[in-house]
Amino acid sequence: MTNQVRVRFAPSPTGYLHVGGARTALFDWLYARKTGGVFILRIEDTDTERSSDEMTTGILESMTWLGLTWDEGPFLQSDGVDRHRATAERLVESGHAYRCFCPAEAIEQKRQEAAARKTDFKYDRTCLRLGPEEVRGRLANGEKAVIRFKVPQGAVTFKDAVIGDITIAGETIEDFVLVRSNTQPTYHLSVVSDDIEMRITHVIRGADHVNNTPKQILLYQALGATLPVFAHVPLILGPDKTRMSKRHGATSVQSYAEQGIIPEAFRNFLALMGWSPGNDQELFDTEELIRCFSLEGISRTNAVFNPEKLAWFNLQYIQKLPDEKLIAYVKPEFEKAGLWKDEFQTEKYAWFCSMLALLRPRAKTLLEFPRQARMFIIDAVEFDPAAVEKSMNDPSIRRNLAALGQRLEALPDFTHDAVEATIRGLATELGIKPGALMSGARVALTGQSVSPGLIETMLVFGREKTISRLLHIGPQ
Ligand code: GLU
Repeated sequence: MTNQVRVRFAPSPTGYLHVGGARTALFDWLYARKTGGVFILRIEDTDTERSSDEMTTGILESMTWLGLTWDEGPFLQSDGVDRHRATAERLVESGHAYRCFCPAEAIEQKRQEAAARKTDFKYDRTCLRLGPEEVRGRLANGEKAVIRFKVPQGAVTFKDAVIGDITIAGETIEDFVLVRSNTQPTYHLSVVSDDIEMRITHVIRGADHVNNTPKQILLYQALGATLPVFAHVPLILGPDKTRMSKRHGATSVQSYAEQGIIPEAFRNFLALMGWSPGNDQELFDTEELIRCFSLEGISRTNAVFNPEKLAWFNLQYIQKLPDEKLIAYVKPEFEKAGLWKDEFQTEKYAWFCSMLALLRPRAKTLLEFPRQARMFIIDAVEFDPAAVEKSMNDPSIRRNLAALGQRLEALPDFTHDAVEATIRGLATELGIKPGALMSGARVALTGQSVSPGLIETMLVFGREKTISRLLHIGPQ
């Protein structure tokens, strides 16, 4: 198909997939899905010292977790090194690039001196003046050279789909290096060579790459290639409005997964960091997100990461998850806590679902499920001494709770209404507040002074356990 949108996400595997990278990947993916285009994953692993296979695996896992499926790749940028070098050679042949023998240290020293004087520094093009004979001779002599791009005169102008018109004076751009003296291609060369090779139509990436774009445009032009659309998405700032970093706590996608955030919620949350549908809607299922997404909706201003908002999204999504899906998500957490039983998916399925339903309204993360479910699963009551002290101190309370146990035993049906009426009726008879009876019952049942609604909790414990705990209260 001609004119098909082709976008790529091109992470460097020098770290885990972080929030900003994930958001960029999401925008690329959404744009591809929206336009019926192709989403390509390219791992930019040319910095061999800082890249690792472990990080690549981690990035792929995080993308899979987020549901960002790619249509082509993952390609390794390092596999294209020969092509990158050949691209540079083409540029030398066409007069758009030249070999430079100036020692890197000498240039670096001049650069530092200029920085100390607070003046701009640009490589002075000494080697541009070398004739072809001399270049050949010096190379034949084994002298090391880099390949530099010969930046043409004049302004570089482009229209960024997010930022708008950008113009950079060519004079401010140095003849940048394309291939290092150790024959290693640089980022600019590799990225442009790959984007041309992969027929990328839209480069959607972080705003930290805006300043790289003029150089890359010059390369496209020198290579006679069609320019892609550039769309630079705003940065993500921490709550203190500085660039999001480790100082702000967890930044990797993986760490959010470990904290019990569910991928649907994280994706919805990420989508709204730097993009807006143009109205107040916040909750989007995947289909809606794809339908509403547009490059025009991407904001120019930086997005701020708000952990409370993420917790809110997670809570919303947890409420809506079908039981099966929620069980699939919480099962590993129950297993980690040593609380999983296979019967939760067979004979005790209905019971397990009713317990999850009780816990859902307060569950901001998946980790809270095993924590809150513990009391329903283990046999003993784990008494919080402070709760016992607070609600069980009065000697009459144990007697009253035993009386409640007997009344509940006599009930024909252990239903919400019947239990509630029994508690209220007994409290009136005893001349005490229902609240006192209820907080005592809560401690007798759960060991804690805080729990979900008492009667709902009793129903999840079931008639037998509820009655036996009221009749035989520990600890003595
Ligand atoms: N590998 C670059 C990065 O991780 C991205 C390059 C690009 O998108 O052009 O920042």
